[in-house]
Amino acid sequence: MSTRSTARFVRYKVTSHPDGGLRTFVSCQSCSFVVLPTADIERATRAMSHHTATKGHAIFKRTTEDVAVVVLADTAEQERRAEVNRLEYRHLGGAAEDDAEHAQAGA
Ligand SMILES: [Zn+2]
Repeated sequence: MSTRSTARFVRYKVTSHPDGGLRTFVSCQSCSFVVLPTADIERATRAMSHHTATKGHAIFKRTTEDVAVVVLADTAEQERRAEVNRLEYRHLGGAAEDDAEHAQAGA
């Protein structure tokens, strides 16, 4: 009995989600000073500089996070799947419902 997989190899790529935003969290390594998670990276940078100027603490742990999204790397595969979704949508009556909604909106 063969155990060889017949599944096609599909390549994905991981990127930052465009609506995810970038956030940073900062904590001083010499005291309890923190900059709570914020999307304002410049503000966090200014707060670190100010803390160093006033307290002399120069080492910070800085964590930056974003929201990642995994997408198909192969555009031909993306288009193939989009077409399959369109066909299923029509098969399930989605296009007919859309037409009915448009007719109502126009009435
Ligand atoms: Zn400090």
